[in-house]
Amino acid sequence: MNDHESNRSDALIAELCAALGDDVVLTGEAVTARAGDGSGAVPCAARAVLRPRTTKQVSAALAACHRAAQPVVPQGGLTGLVGGGVAGDLEVAITLERMTAIEEIDPVGRTMTVQAGAALQSIQEAAEAEGLLFPLDLGARGSCTIGGNVATNAGGNRTIRYGMTRDSVLGLEAVLADGTVLSSLNKMVKNNAGYDLKHLFVGSEGTLGIVTRVVLRLQRRPRSHNCALLALPGFSEVIALLGRLEEAIGGSMSAFEVMWREFYELVTGAEARTAPPIPHGDPYYVLVESLGARPEEDAVQFEEALGDCMEAGLIGDAVLGKSKAERDEIWALRDDVEQLNHLAPIFTFDVSLRIADMETYVADIKTTLADRWSGSRCVVFGHLGDGNLHVVVSVGDGSPEARSAVEEIVYGHLEPICGSVSAEHGIGFEKRSHLGRSRSPVEIELMKTLKRTLDPQGILNPGRVFEAERAPPT
Ligand SMILES: Cc1cc2nc3c(=O)[nH]c(=O)nc-3n(C[C@H](O)[C@H](O)[C@H](O)COP(=O)(O)OP(=O)(O)OC[C@H]3O[C@@H](n4cnc5c(N)ncnc54)[C@H](O)[C@@H]3O)c2cc1C
Repeated sequence: MNDHESNRSDALIAELCAALGDDVVLTGEAVTARAGDGSGAVPCAARAVLRPRTTKQVSAALAACHRAAQPVVPQGGLTGLVGGGVAGDLEVAITLERMTAIEEIDPVGRTMTVQAGAALQSIQEAAEAEGLLFPLDLGARGSCTIGGNVATNAGGNRTIRYGMTRDSVLGLEAVLADGTVLSSLNKMVKNNAGYDLKHLFVGSEGTLGIVTRVVLRLQRRPRSHNCALLALPGFSEVIALLGRLEEAIGGSMSAFEVMWREFYELVTGAEARTAPPIPHGDPYYVLVESLGARPEEDAVQFEEALGDCMEAGLIGDAVLGKSKAERDEIWALRDDVEQLNHLAPIFTFDVSLRIADMETYVADIKTTLADRWSGSRCVVFGHLGDGNLHVVVSVGDGSPEARSAVEEIVYGHLEPICGSVSAEHGIGFEKRSHLGRSRSPVEIELMKTLKRTLDPQGILNPGRVFEAERAPPT
C-alpha cells in the first residue's frame, strides 16, 4: 500500500470508529488474533473487522464503505465450504457475531424472528422449548449462523421433507451495499403483493446485501421419531428402497442419506469415534428417518415397511435406533466428516444430479481417477433423497494443478448429465470458474445485472460467485 492508499484506508477506519465506536472496529493484532476461516488454521487477514450490534450500525458501516468503494465481506460462523466468507487483506469483514438475539416467537402463527448472527442450534433449541420445530439441520449446527444459512440457502439433513433454507424463510431484513435498510419482515405464508424480494438474498452468498434479521417458518414438533441404518446389496436396491419407503411411510420421511462403502468404513473404522453398528462389507449403507405425529402407529408402520423391504431382498442388514441415544449414534457416524481428514490432502465436491444417473456417474469418476492416479481414493456420501452427493477425492497431491485435474474429472462427467456443480454449499471463490457448467450465459448475465443494480460499486463480497467487475482499490 502506498502513502496515499494508506491515508485513505486510515481515514475510512477513523470514520468507522467515529460512527460506530472503537469497540465495534477491530484492527491490527485484534484482527490477526481471530480465525480467518472455519478451520482456524489461518489468521484473519482483513484490513479491519467490524462487529456491529444493530442493523443501524451495519447500515452506517456499509454507507461509509460504499462512499470509500471499500470491499466488504459479511461473516457468520465461517463454516461455509467454498471460501465465500474468508476476507482478504484489502477487505473489511463485517461479522454478525453480536447480533444473536431471538427476538420473538409466535407459537400460533408458528414464526420466529431472529437476528442473523443467531446460531442454528440456538434457534432449533428455542423452537423446541416452545414445542415447535425449526427443521433446518446440518452438521455445523453449533457454529453456523442463520444469516450464513440464508446467504448460502443451506440444505442439510431434512431437505427431503422440509425443503432448503429458502423454504423456511418468510421474511428478512437486509442492508444494501449503500447502507439502505430493506425491511421485508413478512410473517405470512401467502403474500403475492409484487416481487418477493427476500429471494434475492437467499442463496446470494453475501453479494447483494447483508442479512440482519430473519422471520423463520416453524413446524409442529414431531411426536414420533424413527430412524434406522440399513445395509444394501446394490444401487438398484437403493433406488427401489427409496420408492417403497416413500409409498409406505408417506410424507413423514425426513432423511434418506446414503453412504458408499468407503465412507461407512471410514466413519466406523479403527480410528473413528463409532464402532460399526452393521458389519463392513456391503456396498451401500442408508440412514433413513421419519418424523410423525403418532408415536405407536408410526413405529409399527416404520418397522413394517422396513420388514417388507427386507423380505423383498432390498435390505441385507438393519439396525433400528430405538432410543434417542441410539438415533443420535446413527446420526453421529453420518455427520463425522472429520474422519475424511485421514485422507488429506483432499478435494471435496457437492454435486446434484438425477438419482438414476448416480451409480454410473460415481463409477465413471472412480475409473477416470484411478486411470490417472493409481492410488486415488474417492469417497461418496450424501443426501441422496435430494439428488445431492458429496464426493471427496484424495490423489496424494494437494497442489492447485491436481485440484484442477480432479475438478475436470468430477465436473466433466457431470456436465453431459446436466448436474449442478453446487447442490447446497454455494459457489463462493472455489467454484466460480465452474458456474458456467451449471448456469447458462443468459442466467449468469442476469445475475450480474442484479449485482450491478443492487451494488453498483461492487463492494459486497467481490469475486465470489463470479469475477469482480470492478477492481478493488489497492
Ligand atoms: C461439519 C459441516 C457440515 C456441513 N453440512 C452442511 C449441510 O449439510 N448442508 C449445507 O448446505 N451446508 C453444510 N455445511 C456448510 C455450512 O455450514 C453452510 O454453508 C452454512 O450455511 C454457513 O453458515 P455460516 O454462518 O458459517 O456462514 P459463513 O461461512 O460465515 O458464510 C458463508 C457465506 O455467507 C455469507 N454470509 C454470512 N453471513 C451473512 C449475512 N448475515 N448476510 C449476508 N451474507 C452472509 C458469507 O459472506 C459467505 O459468502 C457444513 C459445514 C460443516 C463445517
